[in-house]
Amino acid sequence: MGGVIEVDYPVMSPGTCFICTGGPSPDRRWFDTLIDVWKKGRFYICSMCVENLADLLDLNPNQQLVDKIEQMEVENERGKRALAVLSSLRVDFGALDLDSPVGEVVPTEGIKGAKESASK
Ligand SMILES: [Zn+2]
Repeated sequence: MGGVIEVDYPVMSPGTCFICTGGPSPDRRWFDTLIDVWKKGRFYICSMCVENLADLLDLNPNQQLVDKIEQMEVENERGKRALAVLSSLRVDFGALDLDSPVGEVVPTEGIKGAKESASK
């Protein structure tokens, strides 16, 4: 498609899109393939048909944006759930009274025995 150029509107016969046969309208852009088809005229393609072709090839930037937004929404939802879990953990830690003594450290028998033999 190296020969395709964008034009303001399809000036040569038949003056319509070769695919959808639509004529010039302000909401479309026009592409001239520079190909003349015998008895049919110049092979123009309108932007609507280009977008349809792009959809078929998964090349539509709008669709890619929609896909990206959907992916981000999934990640955002995952993040919200993770935050909720973290918040609940924070509440659980808050319920613990970390300032009160848990109990005295009791030396093991081995250390106790070593201290007793050292004091003798
Ligand atoms: Zn068209």
